[in-house]
Amino acid sequence: MNIILFGPPGAGKGTQAKLLQDEFNIPHLSTGNIFRSAIKNETPLGVKVKSILDNGELVPDETVVELVADELKKEKYKDGYILDGFPRTVAQAEAFDSFLEENNDSLDAFIYLSVPEEELVKRILSRGEGRSDDTKEKVKTRLEVYRNETKPVMDFYADQNKVQEIDGLGSIEEIFGRIKSALK
Ligand code: AMP
Repeated sequence: MNIILFGPPGAGKGTQAKLLQDEFNIPHLSTGNIFRSAIKNETPLGVKVKSILDNGELVPDETVVELVADELKKEKYKDGYILDGFPRTVAQAEAFDSFLEENNDSLDAFIYLSVPEEELVKRILSRGEGRSDDTKEKVKTRLEVYRNETKPVMDFYADQNKVQEIDGLGSIEEIFGRIKSALK
């Protein structure tokens, strides 16, 4: 099963992706986690993307698409995966579509976690994960980037009738229950 978990920063994608990973036994792929780990380990990729992440901007499409395509070729993804934080632009969605087609594969679900903006800001500023982009100013940039560049990705999948909107307000368990029902 191939799933995209989509939504604004702070919607709870990472939390829900981990639960889905355990429930369905398919790996969670977070592009943000890959970038953060590369930055921590000071790899060439990390050096390249550090200031971009620090500023709450987007890593160039080419870099992200190449990274995801390489990652998904690994054996552990052969029975499916949960994408969190990718695709984040329409160009990435188009590239991912071609990738699926080339591999005779398809997308099974596009889950959109819907959360009002005031709640997102509140959650991000109180989550205390120590992320350099979890500051008031950077959250504003990230939400702008989401609105302008990432939200249009939803129209792309709506045209394929794939979008399932989930109410992202409530307890972690409640939201997970809604996602599971949507996937049935
Ligand atoms: P996340 O953990 O998903 O919030 O991602 C953290 C940061 O990593 C984002 O603000 C971007 O700078 C970068 N990033 C993660 N995924 C992508 C992507 N698909 N395209 C471009 N930049 C990304």
